[in-house]
Formats: sequence, C-alpha cells, structure tokens
Amino acid sequence: MVIKPKIRGFICTNAHPVGCEASVNEQIEYVKGQGQVDCPKNVLVIGCSTGYGLASRITAAFGAQANTLGVCFEKEPSEKKTATAGWYNTAAFHKAAKDAGLYCKTLNGDAFSNEMKEQVIDLIKNDLGKIDLVIYSLASPRRTDPVSGNTYNSQLKPIGKQYTTKTFDTSKELVHEVTLEPATQDDIDNTVKVMGGEDWELWMAALAESGVLADNCKTTAYTYIGKELTWPIYGHATIGKAKEDLDRAAAALNAKYQDLNLAAYVSSLKAVVTQASSAIPVMPLYISLMFKVMKEEGCHEGVIEQIYGLFDNLLFAENPPLDEARRLRMDTVETNDDIQGKIKQRWDLVNTENFAELGDYKGYHLDFLKLFGFGFEQVDYEADVDPQVNWI
Ligand code: NAD
Repeated sequence: MVIKPKIRGFICTNAHPVGCEASVNEQIEYVKGQGQVDCPKNVLVIGCSTGYGLASRITAAFGAQANTLGVCFEKEPSEKKTATAGWYNTAAFHKAAKDAGLYCKTLNGDAFSNEMKEQVIDLIKNDLGKIDLVIYSLASPRRTDPVSGNTYNSQLKPIGKQYTTKTFDTSKELVHEVTLEPATQDDIDNTVKVMGGEDWELWMAALAESGVLADNCKTTAYTYIGKELTWPIYGHATIGKAKEDLDRAAAALNAKYQDLNLAAYVSSLKAVVTQASSAIPVMPLYISLMFKVMKEEGCHEGVIEQIYGLFDNLLFAENPPLDEARRLRMDTVETNDDIQGKIKQRWDLVNTENFAELGDYKGYHLDFLKLFGFGFEQVDYEADVDPQVNWI
C-alpha cells in the first residue's frame, strides 16, 4: 500500500509505519546523544505511545537502560487500513529496545478500566517485581468510570463568560475570530472526571495495594499552565480545572504513601504539537507564533528535549525547585515575560495575509505531519509498504 496523509480537520486519520519508525528513532538518537540520566530501572508509562508519554518511555529506556512497561489505546492495522500512529510508534520502540537488549512490554486497551490495572499488576509481578517510576501521560476526550460504568466527555470551553479570540483554521488555512460559549458546571465536572487526578490516584492505589510500588517510588502527571494568551481557553478554562485537580491529587498521593516515601509531582511542560494539542482551539495559532519567536531566540524545544530535561534536571534531583503549587516546571522559557511579550505583539497583528511571516506554521505543520509518520526526508512515500506491522 502507498500511504499518503489523510487529513480531516485537526486530525490525520492514517499513519505511515516507516515514518513513525523514523520519528521514534530520531528521538532515540537525541537521547543517546545527550548522555545517561539518573532514572531508576523499572518504569511504567501510562499513555506511552505518542507525545510526552512516548518521549518519557524513550528517555527512560535509552537514557537509563530502564525496563519499560507501557499502556496505550491504539488501533491495530488491517490489510486495507493503517494502524494509528501510536501503534506504529510502539512497534518501532519495541524493535529498537529489543535490538538494544532492553525489556519492554506494552498493553493496548483502556487505561481507565480496572481490567487494565489488573493486567499491568500481573505483568509487573511476573516480570519486574516492583515499579520505581510511574509516568501518567494520558490525554483522552472521554473516560468510563470503572465503578459506575458512566462515560464522561471532557470539554474545551471557557469558564464564566463567552470568549472571542483569534484562531487558525488548519483545514482552510485562515486566521479568523471564533466565539466559544462558556462551560456549564456539568462541562467542568465532566472534564475534571476525565482529565483530572482521579484515575492517577486509582492507578497508584491499585499498584500500592498490590505491593508492586518500590520504596522511594516517584510518579508524575503532566500539565500545561501557559500564560494570558492561552488562559481563557486552557489554564482558566475547563481543562485548567482538571489540571488543578492533578495538583490536588499529587498532594493526596504524597500524604497517603508516606510509608513508601513516594514522591508525586505534577510536571508542567511547554506547549508542543501533539495529537492532543492540535485538537484545542487557539493552540495551532498560539504554537505557530510561539515556535517562530522561540526559534528566533534560539530556545525552541520539542517533546524529547522537554522530557530529557525533566528527567535530567528535575525529576530525580534530591531537592528539586518547585513552584508555589509544588510542581516541577519545564515551561519557564515559554512562559517568561520576554517571550510572552514577543508572542503577544505578533498575536495582536496576525491575520491570514501575514500569518506565514509572523508565525511558523510551516514548522507547526511539519511537526503535525511527523506525528503520523509523514514529512521525513529519508522516507520514500511513493514506496509500497505493508501496513500490518506488529509489536507482539
Ligand atoms: P497524546 O495525545 O500525544 O498522547 C496521549 C496518550 O494517551 C497516547 O499514548 C494514547 O494512546 C493514550 N491514551 C489515551 N486514552 C487512553 C486510554 N483510555 N487508555 C490508554 N491509553 C490512552 O497527548 P500529549 O499531548 O502527549 O499529552 C500527554 C499529557 O501531557 C497530557 O496530560 C497533556 O495535558 C500534557 N501536556 C501536553 C502538552 C502539549 O502541548 N501537547 C503540554 C503540556 C502538558
């Protein structure tokens, strides 16, 4: 099959196995080029197949030779249809890890379910004994509560009042205004239910009660805080409420598992192009302007640079610097006043005509294509490839 990108709105509905392998290998090479990190040996990554979770897995494995157990929710390929990118990324990760003699196993299914937690615990008991690091990196539009069976949908809405802002329509390539209606209390509660800290706490409770958390275990969930330009749709919006709930959960975990000397952190990361962030209104425009400014200033970073920095400088430091909410901060270069001021100047001026000059949409779009294995120079996109690539 010759595989070309099929883009529908903010998503690409297919993926290229050879390109996904190139993408994973690029991240592996980056980590190998940086040197070893002080990460412990047995690592569980929940949300391991794309974005920040995949970068975490790669950093643990290739920066510290860690054994990695991953959980993701991806679609397998068929003869006629490609798999999702996360499936191919996982296959490529397994191939590279096995070649390097590293233990890795991945379970594909719903991380929010009790069954998945039980399967993971059985695997830890059989293969690894105990886990030293739990990365919680899920991004999902919905969650089924394992107790009630109710399904909740998260919403991306402002809170309190309507919000009118500029946005970039990636399918029509137009900068235009959009008005977002405010969330109801149900919208807020549902978003907290999906993207808040409850499931992270359920994972940690299941692992602790089964005796598979090592003493001095660490865990982190990821957040985005941003600044004034994104607060109305992110930090101070429904998703921001869910992220505040992660702060609550981290404090609760630290209090509850003192006997294990557990350290739970929320880590704040910079905005990058991932499947999750492309779906958020305003983000393609904000990220394009931010990329242009940060590339000009020589401080641009992508997923792997952010996660390598987190592992190398903060997560395993004895007394890491924490912000007022006790979070680890990898986003301070993006959120400092100088960079934000420069993004704001461009934000006020940007329109469809000058967007290519003021923003780095080219860079944004290339990163977007690469999420699905497209846009790599070394890949022959005219070649016939077998979509049925597996990792099991
Ligand atoms: P992503 O879409 O690239 O990755 C999501 C991962 O979750 C994938 O591995 C997917 O398979 C998995 N997943 C989703 N639903 C699942 C389910 N029900 N069961 C099992 N696995 C499931 O997202 P991302 O952008 O890397 O986001 C990860 C975390 O990082 C999120 O908490 C997000 O808020 C945070 N973050 C993202 C950004 C950004 O700019 N993208 C910035 C800061 C923080």
